[in-house]
Amino acid sequence: MSLHPNADPHCIFCKIVAGQIPSRKVYEDDDIYAFHDIAPWAPVHFLLIPKQHIPSMAQVTPEHERLLGRMMVLAPKLALELGCRPYPEGGFRIIANTGADGAQEVHHLHLHVMGGPRPWARG
Ligand code: 5GP
Ligand code: ZN
Repeated sequence: MSLHPNADPHCIFCKIVAGQIPSRKVYEDDDIYAFHDIAPWAPVHFLLIPKQHIPSMAQVTPEHERLLGRMMVLAPKLALELGCRPYPEGGFRIIANTGADGAQEVHHLHLHVMGGPRPWARG
């Protein structure tokens, strides 16, 4: 599959979206892709990303409102489908690491969605 028109050819998440690097898919539509984290911190740990290359939350603009809104609406739905327990006894964490101080390692905007019974490996 070819890279998205906005892709960064050096970005590993753009390559995952394009199917050039394998991933365990959780969800996909025209604009959004979700897949299991390769090094999970929690029993449920997946990443929700826009297909277009946006480096981080620091680059979002009003034109991304609908896209980010859709990601935030999808996150709880997918969390439950993947085994997170219902609120309030269960629940999940949604994290968007941003920049060096935010401990961001992959510079393609992503939401971590983590949940499941504790203890977790980290966090
Ligand atoms: P960050 O620190 O940038 O918020 O987190 C990046 C996340 O991407 C990490 O949790 C890491 O385990 C995950 N990750 C990095 N490379 C890959 C990969 O090739 N495949 C998958 N599935 N996850 C990855
Ligand atoms: Zn990218």
